[in-house]
Amino acid sequence: MNLNTITEIKQPRSAGEIRHWRDGYAWLAGGTWLFSEPQIHTDTLIDLETLGWQAIAAGQDGIELAATCKIAELYAFQPSTEWSAGSLIGECCRAFLSSFKIWNEATIGGNIVMSLPAGPMISLTVALEGIYTLLPRDGPPREVRAADFVTGNHTNILQPGELLRSIHLPAAALAKSFAFRRSELTHLGRSSVLLIGTRRKPDGGLALMITAATVKPVQLAFDGTPSSEQLRNAIDTAIPDSLYLADVHGSPAHRRHLTYYYAEQIRQELEA
Ligand SMILES: Cc1cc2nc3c(=O)[nH]c(=O)nc-3n(C[C@H](O)[C@H](O)[C@H](O)COP(=O)(O)OP(=O)(O)OC[C@H]3O[C@@H](n4cnc5c(N)ncnc54)[C@H](O)[C@@H]3O)c2cc1C
Repeated sequence: MNLNTITEIKQPRSAGEIRHWRDGYAWLAGGTWLFSEPQIHTDTLIDLETLGWQAIAAGQDGIELAATCKIAELYAFQPSTEWSAGSLIGECCRAFLSSFKIWNEATIGGNIVMSLPAGPMISLTVALEGIYTLLPRDGPPREVRAADFVTGNHTNILQPGELLRSIHLPAAALAKSFAFRRSELTHLGRSSVLLIGTRRKPDGGLALMITAATVKPVQLAFDGTPSSEQLRNAIDTAIPDSLYLADVHGSPAHRRHLTYYYAEQIRQELEA
């Protein structure tokens, strides 16, 4: 849609060019959300594309993703076959309510900063123990764990004007084995529940990450394989009823039921 409140589009060559932040400014990534509804409080868009950040770099220590990397670019990327969890990337790219436009224009950073419960790039980066680099307007870069970034439905820890620069996925997490489960009400629809389990080698510690069912990501970690009962108790302790999301894609009771169901499937799959 046309955004008729916009009076200026800035195209900086470096993030440092935008020193002073004010109400009315917004970073523009793929624009798939920004242009999907009126932005009555925004008068200036600051285009991130002109920063020219390299989309993806893979090395011995893992994968570095620019926030401006598009979902389609990430999907086309072939991670090393030594990284068993590399195929989680494709699973999460497909976990989108995604039209042609969203698929080709939406960015990883835009998806993370939206901080929606069904944000598949949040699921991916939390499950793979991602570290985000953030660029505040008035201080040095800071790093945060992906698991600590989202604070609620459409809320996160970013300060005004702070920019998500990149996401590091460590090689140790990429080398884990994984199990993936997702529910959607319609084909290629928005996720109502998305669970990813990962298992460390060689000691076998199991981690379970719950998204879409809850308003923010929930992580559970076990030294070995928990029993069914231990797993269910851990879910109940970590997720009070108020943390389950209620929307047209599912009631909290429906989401809680599927969380138990998929968690048990993941437990059995990773134990085997
Ligand atoms: C029909 C439809 C279906 C959708 N389905 C889903 C879905 O299934 N799951 C889902 O999670 N989302 C969904 N969305 C929402 C949105 O399109 C996606 O979250 C998308 O990934 C946003 O990325 P973008 O690059 O287009 O962000 P933009 O629209 O450009 O920006 C989104 C927000 O993030 C800010 N921002 C962007 N990049 C940065 C950065 N690097 N640092 C700081 N701030 C930044 C922008 O200022 C803006 O506030 C959907 C939207 C539509 C219209």
